[in-house]
Amino acid sequence: MSTAPSAAVRRLTAFLATGMGPDDDVLRDARAARAWCRDHDLDPGRRPFVGPDLVHLRALRTALRGAVADPRGASARRVGGLARRARLGVVIGSRGPEVAPMAPGADGVIGRILLDAVDATTSGAWARIRTCAAPGCAGVFLDTSRSGTRRWCDMARCGNRTKVRAHRARTRAEVAG
Ligand SMILES: [Zn+2]
Repeated sequence: MSTAPSAAVRRLTAFLATGMGPDDDVLRDARAARAWCRDHDLDPGRRPFVGPDLVHLRALRTALRGAVADPRGASARRVGGLARRARLGVVIGSRGPEVAPMAPGADGVIGRILLDAVDATTSGAWARIRTCAAPGCAGVFLDTSRSGTRRWCDMARCGNRTKVRAHRARTRAEVAG
């Protein structure tokens, strides 16, 4: 990419990557989910998150990951329903009219992340958000390489493992042949 990813794109990518690492999924714990929101400049509202809030946040993650993998897929179509939950509207902000979620709490957070995704499309970064090519890995990452050809979420883990596997397969084929 010609410029560094915007704060919106970095937050979107961080959201899509939640639950991927060895730690517990922050979107399965109400307190952890609220802490994640505050850490990422998202207002979680006053009342504690309840079960359905976490379900909707995970549904948003699944829908956006699905949209990255297959824009025409079924999970990508769920984005519309989540946008309605967020009640996206137009308000006059400090710099002029802007789109903002009218819903508070978790639904408002959903709206902010959807607006991050819109920002990613506008800036061209959406096409650089990819699903890891390693078999069995569902990792999502932002390709910031100059060539735009990055294939793995983590070179050390997924890239090398895939290369070793391909090398072994080649060696076996040579021995067999
Ligand atoms: Zn991976």
